[in-house]
Amino acid sequence: MNDRIAELRAAGEAAVAAATTTDELEALRVQHLGRKAELPNLLRNVSDLPPEQRGVVGKAANQARQALQTALDARIAELKDAELDAQLAADRVDVTLPGRSEPVGGLHLLTRTRRDIEDIFLGLGFDIVEGPETETVHYNFDALNHAPNHPARDRADTFYLAPSPNVPGEDLQRVLRTHTSPMQVRTMEANEPPIAVIVPGRVYRPDSDATHTPQFHQVEGLWIDVDVTLADLKGVLLSFARSIFGDEREIRLRPHFFPFTEPSVEIDVSCFQCSGRGHLRNGSRCGLCKGTGWIEILGSGMVDPNVLLAVGAVRGDDAYDPEKVQGFAFGMGIERIAMLRYGVPDLRLLYENDVRLLEQFA
Ligand SMILES: [Zn+2]
Repeated sequence: MNDRIAELRAAGEAAVAAATTTDELEALRVQHLGRKAELPNLLRNVSDLPPEQRGVVGKAANQARQALQTALDARIAELKDAELDAQLAADRVDVTLPGRSEPVGGLHLLTRTRRDIEDIFLGLGFDIVEGPETETVHYNFDALNHAPNHPARDRADTFYLAPSPNVPGEDLQRVLRTHTSPMQVRTMEANEPPIAVIVPGRVYRPDSDATHTPQFHQVEGLWIDVDVTLADLKGVLLSFARSIFGDEREIRLRPHFFPFTEPSVEIDVSCFQCSGRGHLRNGSRCGLCKGTGWIEILGSGMVDPNVLLAVGAVRGDDAYDPEKVQGFAFGMGIERIAMLRYGVPDLRLLYENDVRLLEQFA
């Protein structure tokens, strides 16, 4: 009888060890320990045995049943852990996946245009710097070679600020900067050449109509090094114009006057609506370029030696001696570039915060 119990126990334990799922183990529990199984029946019928065998058989059968029960429980716990791990691995969520919802909102045309301009010049090797929006008359006009009677200094063209009572010794006449050009001078005063920077930022002038707002945005550019020429100016600005307005574009330099560049030129880009022909396919005059085939986009020129000399006087060295270094500067209105690029007819549309304008170009 004890041999049979040992057999049953060995068979049960072997089956439990070989089981690979909890379902299999539940079946084994019924098979080896259930109501109709041989081992429990043996225990139940111990009382039928001769008295001298009852104790020995009962004890062996009970031990065998407990051992099987323990083995089953241990194996079930083991497999449940493994099955849970497998389930977790299969259900794992990849939180690095981008969301699937529709994008909400969009960048303002001016922000998008400014960032595009910055990207283009970063690609050409320029750094981006920013400057103060309130400026001294010195940096806004004097250091940029504006004569004392230059019309831009007029109170009709410049916002003047009262001297601040909070700044001890503040006796400098301040203005809201009328252009980003003061940063040309500030950058040269603080840095050795070579310099290649652009200066995006807000500027202010007392104008308000379809093509002017009292606050608007410019991007200034400055490149100073040995042997920088007008050809470099043309190459850089041609590259810019093609990046913004298309690979087919050409530019032309037109003589102009600015106080702080000499020679000064205005840059026109060939019209992207009529491909520079001045008329549309149906023969009518192109409205965008007014039939000329060219659109003015910015002002520029070679930095005036007087500006470099003034920087040298402040620095007290000859790093910007105009006999040693030269360079060019340019300035453009971000609003103008955005209006041309997106066909916006009235500057004020850019500031009315009409969400339809944003959605139209999203
Ligand atoms: Zn045109």
